[in-house]
Amino acid sequence: MDLLIQKARLGTEIRDVLIQNGRFSRIEANIAPASLAPSTRTLDGIGMAILPSFANVHSHAAMVLMRGLGDGTPLHEWLNNIIWPLERRLTSDHIYWGTLFGCLEMIRSGITAAHDMYWQTPQCMRAFYESGIRTCFCHPNIIPPGQAALDGLRRDLEEHLALAKSYPSRVELSVGIHALYTTSPEMRAICRDFAAENNLAVHTHLSETKRETNECIQSTGKTPAEVFDAEGLLNDRFIGAHGVWLTDSDRQLLAKRGASIAHCPSSNMKLASGTFQEGAARRAGLRFGLGTDGACSNNRYDMFSEMRTAALLAKASTLDPVACSAAEIYRTATADGFRIFRLDAGEIAVGKLADCILVDLDHSGLVPGHNLVSDLVYAATPECVDTTICAGKVLMHRRKIPGEDEVRRAFREVAARL
Ligand SMILES: [Zn+2]
Repeated sequence: MDLLIQKARLGTEIRDVLIQNGRFSRIEANIAPASLAPSTRTLDGIGMAILPSFANVHSHAAMVLMRGLGDGTPLHEWLNNIIWPLERRLTSDHIYWGTLFGCLEMIRSGITAAHDMYWQTPQCMRAFYESGIRTCFCHPNIIPPGQAALDGLRRDLEEHLALAKSYPSRVELSVGIHALYTTSPEMRAICRDFAAENNLAVHTHLSETKRETNECIQSTGKTPAEVFDAEGLLNDRFIGAHGVWLTDSDRQLLAKRGASIAHCPSSNMKLASGTFQEGAARRAGLRFGLGTDGACSNNRYDMFSEMRTAALLAKASTLDPVACSAAEIYRTATADGFRIFRLDAGEIAVGKLADCILVDLDHSGLVPGHNLVSDLVYAATPECVDTTICAGKVLMHRRKIPGEDEVRRAFREVAARL
């Protein structure tokens, strides 16, 4: 169905915006509804700004099931003693409702695409598809015990790819390598070859903690980024989450290969992993987007708080008030993130994919409104998002998502049975 958004603020102008076939087709001062197909839906944009939606480049949506469990535990202890034992007990119901509930939280925060990694690919893909947002999804492959498991890995990847292709749109597969320290060279080679053969992204956790990075250097003489490069995995389809302990030469290497980093400031702060060197990454020309990580280590799927945290962290950690401007981090959360997805979105312009939000300019954080981008980064919260649109489809309007009460009820029920 075509969609006409009337009298929304776009930059300094008031514009009518027409969306057809999932893309912005006309942006003009006045588009007469009578001139459009009778089935065109109109949305009142008065008092709203139309803006690109956000791209979340690293998440584990279903982990919202375990939000609040094990807070304050070091990463490796947290994974080994709390999260992984719980995850072994998760049923398909847990995963489906957890992912769907996580997606609703993303929609509320204006996110329309998530590079997600989690168990039980069929349930996760189904939930993402039904939520209406886009996903590039991967299973977090972890070290297999032997040859049989290696054969199984290729079979699983083939099955997951067929499943992703069975969706008409918005669901893509990436190849997950949980991390260097949880995988073997043999399985990474299978992942590399499968990704190359099928032109898929590879999604991993990279140099997240000092311990992981030091152990890698001790055992191989190389940094994790150097190991991935030696194994032929670093290229423009590689996405490494965190990148906290990258060296200067790692940043240059990743930039040279065209690889991307998912900067997850809240997760890195909460788990005390360290600080991604945002300024050094920009200077090296390293591509990065913003990620929420999972709701156990954040504990939100909220790009407003991620932008604010990233900007404050960059300034505080460098003692430089000029570091990481609001405009820079806003672009990281929108256009730069969508570029990592290879999606032609992140901008309100004719021909671009119609992934956008309407924000209520009466929201307290957006008043008096001297500088909208600064307000979005430093003062706004997800509550300013009135409407979320993905691929031209309205997923939330007036902060209502159709069916959200049923999802919340079912999610509460399954979360109580963890
Ligand atoms: Zn993660």
